[in-house]
Amino acid sequence: MMNLEKTIEALKSNRMDVHYVRTAEEAKALALSMIPEGSTCVSGGSVTLAETGIIDAIKNGAYHYIDRSLPDLTQEQKDDAMRAAFGADFYLSSANAITEDGELYNVDGNSNRVAALLWGAKNVIVVAGVNKLVKNLDEAVLRVKTVAAPRNAARLSCNTPCAKLGHCISLERNGGMTDGCKTPARICANFTVMAYQRHASRVKVILVGESLGY
Ligand code: SF4
Repeated sequence: MMNLEKTIEALKSNRMDVHYVRTAEEAKALALSMIPEGSTCVSGGSVTLAETGIIDAIKNGAYHYIDRSLPDLTQEQKDDAMRAAFGADFYLSSANAITEDGELYNVDGNSNRVAALLWGAKNVIVVAGVNKLVKNLDEAVLRVKTVAAPRNAARLSCNTPCAKLGHCISLERNGGMTDGCKTPARICANFTVMAYQRHASRVKVILVGESLGY
């Protein structure tokens, strides 16, 4: 396992709040305790958030959850729901990888998720299992190309090479971070690193001592 203590200290030195809990259940309780009743909440699509039960709890709690996954929404309504993240009290997401240097690495296709992580939402809660911890950005890039992107592409039935190969096509030609397929379904468009934060404590990271999501 990566050096958990070092990661926690590095995230703190990058002015993010950090909490470590052992289980998904504890992560859910902690996340809910951070969000005052009545808060407007938006989330990115995240297997981790689904596995922890956090989104269901928010949907069923005393919060104003803006849900872009409701059936029968028009594309315009879905777009509006995604834009609502910029004015939300809380934006919830996981991360594709977290480094020992205290960086959050995320790759996005539509990119509403990375946009909201970077700016707009007053508070950001990032929930991540220890399987997301990596040593450095090189390992973060590799993690997305070998784990996160292929599994998400398969989950979302994206017609991309990685969904079939189990890894990014770029690895077959030793391509770098942004190298990849040239398909309209590509889920890797924007590559973001969150490091030292100007707005202290806006980003709250909950690290969970279990394997969660991709
Ligand atoms: S660039 Fe294309 S092949 Fe590579 S991981 Fe992303 S979607 Fe998959």
